Amino acid sequence: MSGGQSDVLADALAAIETWRTARPWARLRVPSAKRAVSVAPRQVYLTTFFETRRVEYAFIAASTCPANPDPRPDPWTLSMDHSRDAKAHDRITLPLKGQLFLVCEICHGSGDARCPKCDGAGKVHDFENREVGCPECSRRGWIACPVCAESGGVFARPTAISEIHCSERMQVDEASELPLDALLELMDEEREGETVYLHESDRIVDLPRQGYRDTASDTALREIVIALGNTPDIPPGSRVLRQRLEVRAVPAWKVTLDDDRDVFVYGVPPRVTPERHLLSTAGKLARLFVTHD
Ligand SMILES: [Zn+2]
Ligand SMILES: [Zn+2]
Repeated sequence: MSGGQSDVLADALAAIETWRTARPWARLRVPSAKRAVSVAPRQVYLTTFFETRRVEYAFIAASTCPANPDPRPDPWTLSMDHSRDAKAHDRITLPLKGQLFLVCEICHGSGDARCPKCDGAGKVHDFENREVGCPECSRRGWIACPVCAESGGVFARPTAISEIHCSERMQVDEASELPLDALLELMDEEREGETVYLHESDRIVDLPRQGYRDTASDTALREIVIALGNTPDIPPGSRVLRQRLEVRAVPAWKVTLDDDRDVFVYGVPPRVTPERHLLSTAGKLARLFVTHD
């Protein structure tokens, strides 16, 4: 394993070097280090494809308000099945047969609607900011309901609409010793590192038993999957279509420098924290001048 250990150190130093050469102005020294350990944190993404359904209506004014309005259709009882690989924004539009006799939604059957010009006040301000009677409603504050033409009732042609949406939740496996600033950055919803496990299913509420390392003993990952899977980010009344679990390993190392201080190098492209441990003497002086300016 001694060869493995020096490989880890070489990888960590190479990552620091990539970071260092990307900021030639920063006066950073070439680090000399004793050892490095890989602390590879994991980003766990749970993507949920879910379906929403609703019914939209086109209204025509009726001549009366119904005493017993027709029941509205429940869109979830309709056959509107998306394919299993449906994507976000996919939509099925289903015009339903017939028309319904309903109470007008705008005026709730009263036949009067709040005047849109004065918002029910009956008065408006003229160009010289004087209060004058609203010309739209003749100071009444209400107008004849434009949807039902004062009858309080409408005929409604229903169209059912089903839409696919996508939401995503992510958590970082904090089993690693990474400092907080690095962890927060990795939780920034940016995918880093490489995918080490991908699993798709109708519903994911627990870590699948097979497929990734020894998943049975991976309690840290399992806890995250259960937490994400039991509270998918979907609005009430919608339905989960399928879910995708993605685990990404982010390269990260804890590097112990020759002077026994630790720095962490993590991510793609690599970042280092705390940076001050790698400042050269010239860099420290430069920083001193800046902070005391
Ligand atoms: Zn109305
Ligand atoms: Zn008005």
